[in-house]
Amino acid sequence: MNINDILDRSKKAFFKYGKSSGEQRATLLETIASEIENLGDSLVKAIEEECNFVEGRILGERGRTCGQLRMFAQVARSGSHLGIKKDAAMPDRVPMPRPDLRKINIPLGPIIVFGASNFPLAYSTAGGDTASALAAGCTVILKGHPAHAHTSELVASAISKALDKVGMDQDIFIHVASSDFETGKALVQHPFTAGVGFTGSVSGGYALASYTRDRKNPIPVFTEMGSTNPVIYLNGAPSEEVKSRANMLAGAITLGAGQFCTNPGLIFGLKSEEFTTFYTSLSENISQIQGAKMLNHNIQKNYLAKMDHALQQKGIQLISNVTDTDDELIAVPSLAKTEGHTFINNPVLHEEVFGPYSLIVEFESQDQLEQALHMIDGQLTCSFLANEAILKENSSLIDIAIHKAGRLIFNGVPTGVEVCDSMVHGGPSPATSDSRFTAVGSDAILRWLRPVCYQNFPTSLLPKELQD
Ligand code: NAP
Repeated sequence: MNINDILDRSKKAFFKYGKSSGEQRATLLETIASEIENLGDSLVKAIEEECNFVEGRILGERGRTCGQLRMFAQVARSGSHLGIKKDAAMPDRVPMPRPDLRKINIPLGPIIVFGASNFPLAYSTAGGDTASALAAGCTVILKGHPAHAHTSELVASAISKALDKVGMDQDIFIHVASSDFETGKALVQHPFTAGVGFTGSVSGGYALASYTRDRKNPIPVFTEMGSTNPVIYLNGAPSEEVKSRANMLAGAITLGAGQFCTNPGLIFGLKSEEFTTFYTSLSENISQIQGAKMLNHNIQKNYLAKMDHALQQKGIQLISNVTDTDDELIAVPSLAKTEGHTFINNPVLHEEVFGPYSLIVEFESQDQLEQALHMIDGQLTCSFLANEAILKENSSLIDIAIHKAGRLIFNGVPTGVEVCDSMVHGGPSPATSDSRFTAVGSDAILRWLRPVCYQNFPTSLLPKELQD
């Protein structure tokens, strides 16, 4: 594989594609969505075989992926991402006249996107990073994830067909199939690369960021890595609500074998009769939910290793009923419990266990709970199970959580990320490497743009969008 050749082609294609109109990009994105739908059963079958997903999950993810492509088509068409600002000239201003100034966001250039193992469609080949980069006017080099290589090839073929249909250069999107770290490293280090989008492990994200630090010309690197998504339980609910909260949370912990970056991995509450009732009910619910197959042996191996490591720590008790299964790909949902001081003093317990595992932490006091919240790493989300008046009384928790997470949730669960204008799927490190941006929703396009100001340019030489 010749990385120089790939980047050379991508850069050449960028010079033309970067100047395409919003309407042309929108047409491309809509055509890609239609071509993915046209793959029909072959795509569903490929994902079934490679990822162990049930059909409902595949269709849901396909719907989300095509919806994202169409949403970014709308963004490209509307031009809302261009951030146009105009300051008219003030020739008579004293003591200095002001020139005519006009600002517009332009695309960065070739973007390297890494497909994620846990979302073969929505965060992979034609997923949110690719769709937002293409909408911005960037070209994309996609490093397929080896866990679903065939799915990635199929989606890449749909993109290729779409480029043909709309009469655009094939090099606008280049698919790279490889399971060799050196390829990823060479791609992100190449001088023509203008940005990186990644979803995966903390170690993978940090490694890619470190490779780019050796570059002569620094570039933005957006890595979405790990999150334990704390759920804070506040007492004061009637008994039937305690049970319904437990039921809702059990569903979120076990959804998709827990293979979501928004999986709720930490559950905080004050030692009390109500919190005991809550987690007992949660444990009962979880024990009744059958384990589901994980994506592959590697992910399952990591799940077991991380969980074992957590459970071997002093002061940890497994409280869900662990049922044995013969199928080695099944991830048995598990719930453990510890005391506040144990949690605070052991950072291993703060780490993500990627799979259907959660840790209940029982605190002695509000101060202790707040101390733990201050200590944990950056998060994608933080949820409150509480009634309004009680949360108001404890609003200091919101004050801490707002600086920890990208999304705060009231009486709900973090799984199920809506793709829309106001979504924030980001947060302080290691949730993401740059908490100023979101990886989901229309603002994800802002990652692939930079502002340029035209000073005193004649109208005929200005981009159309900046002309009066
Ligand atoms: P990963 O190991 O981080 O790999 C994701 C992509 O990054 C792959 O394409 C991989 O390349 C590349 N990569 C990783 N480390 C690299 C390095 N040092 N140099 C160059 N490229 C590198 O993630 P994964 O394969 O999806 O899953 C592994 C574990 O990550 C899971 O078991 C889970 O614990 C965690 N994970 C977390 C999330 C989350 O949302 N928090 C999502 C997915 C996975 P290759 O293709 O060459 O291997």
